[in-house]
Amino acid sequence: MVGDVVSRTTLRHVRDIMAGAGGAQAKLNDIVVAIAEGTHADVCSIYLSRRHELLELFATKGLDQQAVHNTTLKFGEGLTGQIARRAKPLRLRHAQISPDFAYRPETGEEAFTSFMGVPVLYGGNVIGVLSIQHRLEHGYGDDEVEALEIIAMVVAEMVAGVLIPHEPSDVMVGDIQRPRTLEGLGLVDGVARGQAVFHQQRLNVARLIAEDGAAELIRLEEAVLEVQRGLNDLQLADDEHDQDETLEEMLETMRMFAADKGWVRRMRIAVEQGLTAEAAVERVHHEMRARLLRQPNLYFRERIHDLDDLADRMFRALGGDMSRPSSKLQGESILIARSLGPAQLLEYDRSALKALVVEEASPTSHVVILARALGIPVVGQTITAEDVVREGDVIVVDGERGQVHVRPAGAVLESLQERVRLNQLRRSLNEQAAQLEPVTLDGRRINCQINAGLVEDVHEVPRLGADGVGLFRTELHYMIAPGLPKAGEEVLFYQQAMDAAGGKPVTFRTLDLGGDKLLPYAQHIGDENPALGWRAIRICLDRPTFLKFQLRTMMKAADGRPLRIMFPMVASLEELQEAAHMAAREADAVARLGHQRPQYELGVMVEVPSLLEMIPQIAPYVSFLAVGTNDLMQFLYAADRGNARVANRYGRLPLGLLRVLARLSREAPAHGLQLSVCGEMAGRPEGVLALMLLGITGLSMSAASLPFIKQFIRASDVGALQEEFQMLLEQGDPSLASWLEQHVHVITSALDEELA
Ligand code: PEP
Ligand code: MG
Repeated sequence: MVGDVVSRTTLRHVRDIMAGAGGAQAKLNDIVVAIAEGTHADVCSIYLSRRHELLELFATKGLDQQAVHNTTLKFGEGLTGQIARRAKPLRLRHAQISPDFAYRPETGEEAFTSFMGVPVLYGGNVIGVLSIQHRLEHGYGDDEVEALEIIAMVVAEMVAGVLIPHEPSDVMVGDIQRPRTLEGLGLVDGVARGQAVFHQQRLNVARLIAEDGAAELIRLEEAVLEVQRGLNDLQLADDEHDQDETLEEMLETMRMFAADKGWVRRMRIAVEQGLTAEAAVERVHHEMRARLLRQPNLYFRERIHDLDDLADRMFRALGGDMSRPSSKLQGESILIARSLGPAQLLEYDRSALKALVVEEASPTSHVVILARALGIPVVGQTITAEDVVREGDVIVVDGERGQVHVRPAGAVLESLQERVRLNQLRRSLNEQAAQLEPVTLDGRRINCQINAGLVEDVHEVPRLGADGVGLFRTELHYMIAPGLPKAGEEVLFYQQAMDAAGGKPVTFRTLDLGGDKLLPYAQHIGDENPALGWRAIRICLDRPTFLKFQLRTMMKAADGRPLRIMFPMVASLEELQEAAHMAAREADAVARLGHQRPQYELGVMVEVPSLLEMIPQIAPYVSFLAVGTNDLMQFLYAADRGNARVANRYGRLPLGLLRVLARLSREAPAHGLQLSVCGEMAGRPEGVLALMLLGITGLSMSAASLPFIKQFIRASDVGALQEEFQMLLEQGDPSLASWLEQHVHVITSALDEELA
């Protein structure tokens, strides 16, 4: 094919120009000459968009040089503008008779008869137009269009990623370089600034052009087969079990894309024309993304994620380099991810990671809980972040307002930086106030503990004047270890955690693995519905070695000090009995081995609704209950806590949950059980107010929330609100949640005035 030869040679030529010395403009000038020669055209022009929806002639071979940087066209204006608006190629044998032709006398283009142009796409956005023109009548074939599109892709990578520097906003190119504010959902409070880093790595310009075309084609074919096989396997699994509708839809779309002959053919052509298999995937992906993005129909736009998933699968099949998280962050970084697991978050350098933008997350997804514990602001559900943000962009994440400011311009950036500074100041003021006693205005002392996952978190107990660790999520330490910890390491770990608490109690929760908390070094079961599957205590009882190991190492570490152990996800009396029995046996074994006899108390997480019916039965085995409202809410309302579409559906404080808590608040003391709440509810003002009004005085929350919550407690008068609250609760008044919010507003406004 003519196009193949033309494109491959031209591509190499363009690559050499890019790799050579010289500034951006000089390179663009050389590139248009190379393309004109390679395509035997009389004219080659590159238009780039450095202001919103406005194209500017950046370089040309064949048109009048005076027009460079002087000729501009709006998106939609003239042939070039039409290409930009539609994000589609255009070819015309007789350009001037087209109604869209816009004559620009300064260019001298009246001398040329035929015209072909293609969009320059980056991240699915149009950042320019590349066109060629012929003096004599010329009919452009499909292969020529393909060839020019491929060259445009290489040009896109160059102008967006290499030649155009990031900093000064006036030299940035295209719509994607404009300042933008994305609206999302504030998931973790705080304001932070940093440079964008993608969790899913993008294509590196160095890997665009293939050295050996034939070998590259084989790689591509094999990857396509592997992906299709993978999807078919999923389909089989799907047919056997009744999968949920979203997954069904997603699979259907991916299969549709994957089986689309056009999709495979276009990738094949791209490789035949000189691209690497990865670059071919990227190219076709960008193109289809651009088309979907322009669909007015929401259904089609929502399919973008499926298309992205398919591209990720292809990249993985090609060698996996593309979607592996790069855990090395430089300087102050903001991580942008479509979705992210807690273990993946932990792989990043905590000191460099300033904020997180994660499209698929909800307030109680584990990654959000973890970020909250680490004091990292999070904004979620910003569907377009991946399209608008470029790696290296300056970003300000505002977790309070749920906004992401991308490339904020001068004055906006200054005012945002002021908010970042105030936020830091407020934190440090809060921390100073943290040593104060959490006693309400009407004299109720609230026990304020923190949730921890790593030893460093426990250091916050003395620093923030916390009453201890109410929930130590031991699985986090397993999740970041390179392999299963050895007994000695494990004993040391628990010892260090207890030491760090400075004599305050630490409640260790036994492994709560499964769901979205997976061990990177263990085989995954692939439960159909992981939150309801083989997780937490279920794994520990079925594989008792795990639990025995944990109990024994904890007991050794306590070395006679009081130890608090709690079991997660217990759903039946038998499970608790079995776990308690195992603890007793381990205590005997530890004593037999010559250690001090363990002084331990047992507790159970109240997360599975079945347990609510068994408080009297479980009371003989435990001394405390810790309510995990994140899971309890998920199971009570059958609403996946990690699924952004349903996680907030019933509000944060629905009546059913409050009534369950009221019941626990009555029953626990009646059976001699201490009661506390350690779900995210206990770290939010409206949740804390509700809990205090329900008579629950034990809270455990992320360390980052504690200073403010202490101040909030100190500013609350529970007694004054109690009667009205009881009445609303008993009546089942639907305005209860907004009533709570109003009172929170009154209390926090008073606090803010004090701060001012
Ligand atoms: C909970 O479910 O509320 C809880 C505290 O446990 P986790 O968030 O770790 O599941
Ligand atoms: Mg839980």
